Formats: sequence, structure tokens, C-alpha cells
Amino acid sequence: MVVRRELSGSLPLVEDTRHSLLRIRSADLDKLEKHVYQRYPDREWGTFFEFGYRPTSWGLTLSYVDGLWPHPGDMDRQVGLTRFLDQYSRRVFHHTAVSPLAIGVVHSHPEDCCTFPSRTDDDMDSYFARELGSYGKGKPYCSLVLQRSSRTGFTFTGRVYYRGEWFPIEKLFKVGKTVEVFHSQAEEPQSISTEASEAPRARLVSVLGLPSAVRLKDSTIGIIGCSGTGSPAAHVLARAGAGEFILVDPQRFENSNLERMHGTRWEHIETEPSPYKVELVADLISSINPKAKITTLAGNILHENVIDELLRCDLLLGCTDTQHARAKLSDIAQHYLLPSLDLGVLMEGENGKVTSQICDVTVYSPDLPCAFCIERIDGVELSNELTAEEERVRRQIEAKQAGERGDDPDQYWRQSSRQLHTVGYLTTMLGALGAGYAEGLLTGVFHTPHSWFQLDIGSERLGVVAPPRSRVPECACGNYLGWADAAEAYRNVTKPEHWPKRGLLLSRV
Ligand SMILES: [Zn+2]
Ligand SMILES: [Zn+2]
Repeated sequence: MVVRRELSGSLPLVEDTRHSLLRIRSADLDKLEKHVYQRYPDREWGTFFEFGYRPTSWGLTLSYVDGLWPHPGDMDRQVGLTRFLDQYSRRVFHHTAVSPLAIGVVHSHPEDCCTFPSRTDDDMDSYFARELGSYGKGKPYCSLVLQRSSRTGFTFTGRVYYRGEWFPIEKLFKVGKTVEVFHSQAEEPQSISTEASEAPRARLVSVLGLPSAVRLKDSTIGIIGCSGTGSPAAHVLARAGAGEFILVDPQRFENSNLERMHGTRWEHIETEPSPYKVELVADLISSINPKAKITTLAGNILHENVIDELLRCDLLLGCTDTQHARAKLSDIAQHYLLPSLDLGVLMEGENGKVTSQICDVTVYSPDLPCAFCIERIDGVELSNELTAEEERVRRQIEAKQAGERGDDPDQYWRQSSRQLHTVGYLTTMLGALGAGYAEGLLTGVFHTPHSWFQLDIGSERLGVVAPPRSRVPECACGNYLGWADAAEAYRNVTKPEHWPKRGLLLSRV
């Protein structure tokens, strides 16, 4: 992590590793770029914009919402530099006083120029940080400088003022069908490592290309659920050279996991206390790629400190097959613009025969309808998962009594009695497939054939179904894209009170 203290003379950045990340939807960045380059090649232009934010243990995550575009007469067209006139600033100051979102400024530098802030930019940022901070009651202020030329491609720098400190924006994620990442411009151009082309990954490089290998090495992938599906996904991604992993799973290894969990060995059966699943998967990753950075959390995606860590990721993989994790992934995609691939497995059987072996792959992204719109969330099961043990027992008794009365027991408790435990070949296949789609999403080399599909490996032609996906008109999921913590009231799922407060951070290497 390079903290660019040289970035500006008069506005010193934090001197530790804390930093900020910005996510923006692909279509929004295209629109923003078009706006700020309108006086290219020599003259600058800019706009105010709104963003959602969340302070985290490592700094701040930001997500772009929309431009507060200038009206005619809001900016000085006579000068080549970006100059916001008072009427524009004042309108924005009043807006921030009533909006739950924070406000930033973005401006271009002329084509082929670097994006380091000038002395004038320092003055502008000091002024806006102070004024917007006071009108916005302590909300952060963000300033971005963008540039694009055929020689350099897209470059940027950015900084965020929050509670008396300036944080560098290290990365900008452009989230569309592909998740692109841009690093802040540095004084010393970062050398592209050719290590990716070394022997262990020569095959991957020959198929996906060197830029893809570099992209994977540069990526941070969050895996939620590190058992049957998550462990093979991690396994494949480690071999593909993914650079950093955040592993989340609350459970310890149980003997029956040996059948399907990659990274487990006979000796783990004897080990006391039983290791956490995330520890075993971390060992597996390290044994393949000792340079991989790994954070392990014995926790759940609903824990706030787990979400903090996940928000550092380029992409999340949902491997828990639970309703609450699926709902949370969907919320995170909408509110924080962090996309995910959710992988689900269902095996059913009767009279000693397996009747269905379904794999489900769903992409959650801010551009797609949420999990509720596509009816991927079973409300009864969701509620059961989040219910305290006593309440669960009570509901089961009530369901039994209802059944005896001849009433519908499902309104109290529903249990699919035909559902089987999933087995290793199916979970390994889906985990590996999911890892492949993750590689596609990060590199742009290929995409999932549909944003949501299911297949049944025991059916003719694999029984593929890809239901249409559209936002349900009553669903509010499209209304709070990028609102981050300001969308709290619109979250579909939160941690129940009876759960532990935090996930346990086991290690960070
Ligand atoms: Zn400037
Ligand atoms: Zn929805």
C-alpha cells in the first residue's frame, strides 16, 4: 500500500496505512468523464457530486451516487481552469445540509497532464472541506482529479477529508459487467510485475493473457462460507494467482467435512480443538501461493467488522447457501456497489435415489435487480435462520400442533424433509465454476452466460434454466444505489441481537 504523502504540499495525508476506496458504476463513470472532458484537450471542467460512505477499520469506503451537475452560469467558462462560482457552491452547501449523502468535487486536468493537485486545487479543497464539513455536519468531503489520453489511458488522484484528516483514495473500482480497478496515479509509475508470466501460471497467461494474470494478482476476493463450495473456489483462485483473500466462516471443522472440504486432511479429525474452517482454507491457499495475503474471520457476513473487511474486496463470492447471506450480498451490491457471485447447491432425494442436483449461479450487482426481486429469498427460511434457539423450538412445536389439527404447518416452521446433504463432487464443481466466473468478472475475458441461472447435473441437457430478471416495481432496490451507510433504513437484513457482536479476527498475513 503506497501512501502518497508527496501528493500535495499543503494538505498532508494521513501518515499510516489508512486510505480510501471509491466505487462507481461503469455507466456513471462514462457519463462523468464525458462531462469533465468537455473542454478537452487543453481546458478543464468539473462538477460537484454526491456519494455514500462508510468509515471502516482501514479508512473509508465511498460509492458514487450522482453528479450535482452545474447549471448554466454556475462555472466560469472564461478561464481554462475549473472555477466553481458562488451561486453553485452555495446551492450545494444548502443541499448537503438536508441530504444524507456526502458531497465531493471532481475536475479534469488537461489531456496528457498528470492528476496531482495543484496549489489552486489545494486552496479549493481546503475551502470546500471546511465549508461542506460545517454545512454537512461532519460528513466527509472528497476531491477527485481525472484525466484521459490515448498515451496514458484513464488516470486519477483523489483525497477525502474526514474528521480533521486527509485520506488518499488508493483505488477506484469501475463496476459494470466487469470489475475494473484503477490505482491512483503515483509519482513513480508502478512497474507491472512480470512475475505473473512465470512457470506456475504460464497456462493461465496463455489462455487469459498477461493483463488478466496481473489483474488477478492485484485483486482482493472475499469468500463468505469456506466449506464445500467456498474451499474449492479458494483453491482454484489461489492457483490462478489471486493476490488477496478475505475468508469468512464462523464454523470449526467437523469430521464429516472431510468428504467435501478442500484443504482438510485425515489428521484434522484428531486435532483438538478443531481448527476453524477459515484457518484450513488459509493454509491451503498459502501452500499454493505463499505470497497471497489472507485475512481470516470466524464470523458472519452480518457482523459489522466482517463487512468492513469485505468492503476492501474487488468481488465477493457467496458460498454459504443461506438466505441471510444471500440477502446481505444483494444489499451490499446495491448500497455499496460491491458486486458478488452467489453459489447455491440443492440436492434432493427419495427412497434412496437422488432426484435433483441443482447448482445456482447468481450475480448481484448494482445494475441488476436484487435477490428479492427475483424471489431468491424465502422469507420463512430467512426468519428461521435469524431466530433464537428457543423461538425455533417453539415454532417447531407450533408447526407440529398445526399439522395435528389439520392446519398448514408451514406458516410456523417449514422443513424440507427430502433435502439431502450436498456432496463433494457437486460442491467442488460449483465452487470451481464460480471461481472461473470470478476470474471472468475481474478480467473481462468472459462473462456468465446469464446473470442468473440454474442447472441440474442429473437432467437431460443439464436442465439449464435462466429465468428473466427484472426489478419488481414495488421493490425499492434501485433507489439507493451507492448510498452506503445512509441506506441503513433500507437494508433487508441485519444481525439479530442474540448473535455475538463481532466476528473474530483470527489472523491477517
Ligand atoms: Zn486541478
Ligand atoms: Zn429489488
